[in-house]
Amino acid sequence: MTILIDNGHGRETPGKRSPDGQIKEYEYTREMAQTIVSRLNSLGLSAQRLVMENHDVPLSERCRRANEYKDNHILVSLHLNAAGADGKWHNASGFSCFIANNASERSKWLAKAFTEQAIQLNLIGNRHIPPNKTWVQNLAICRDTTCPAVLTESLFMDNLSDAAILLSDNGFKAITDLHVNAILSYFEKFHKQS
Ligand SMILES: [Zn+2]
Repeated sequence: MTILIDNGHGRETPGKRSPDGQIKEYEYTREMAQTIVSRLNSLGLSAQRLVMENHDVPLSERCRRANEYKDNHILVSLHLNAAGADGKWHNASGFSCFIANNASERSKWLAKAFTEQAIQLNLIGNRHIPPNKTWVQNLAICRDTTCPAVLTESLFMDNLSDAAILLSDNGFKAITDLHVNAILSYFEKFHKQS
C-alpha cells in the first residue's frame, strides 16, 4: 500500500496566503508533505509525494499520476483553509477533512479518522462538525481518483489564532502528527497483517 501525499497549489497560484503574507499555502503544504512522508517512511510504510514540482500541477495530471498506482494506495491532499479571498482576517477556525460526493466507504472511514484525530488534538476550531465527522464537496482530486482519497484543510491561514498555530513549531508538529496518526489508524484497520 502506497500512501500518496499531494501538496496543494503552486508558487504562482494567486491568493492562497495569510493576510500578512507570512504563510504561503503551496510552501507550507510542501513542508508538511515532506515531513509526513519522512515520518511514514521511518515507520516502515511506503509513502511518497505526488507533486514534487513547486509550480501548480493541474488537477487532471495529479489524478492521472495517482491512478497509475495499483497497490491499494490511498491519497491525502494537503491544503490550508481560508474563509475569504479579500486579504483580511476572518473568524472561522480549525481543521476539516473533505471527501467527494462519490466517496467510497474507505474514503469515508479515512476522513472520519482525520477528524477524530483533530478533535483529540484540539484542532477542530470553532465550526460545527458535520454528520459522519466529514465535510463533502465536489473536489476533483477526490472525485477523479480511483483510490480512497481525502483532502485536508489544516486550519485557516486567514484566522489570526490559527495562523499563530501554523507558524509555531508545536502547531506544525500537531498538524503533521494528526496526519500520521490518521493514516496509521487506516493502515492498521485495513492493511496490517495479523
Ligand atoms: Zn488549497
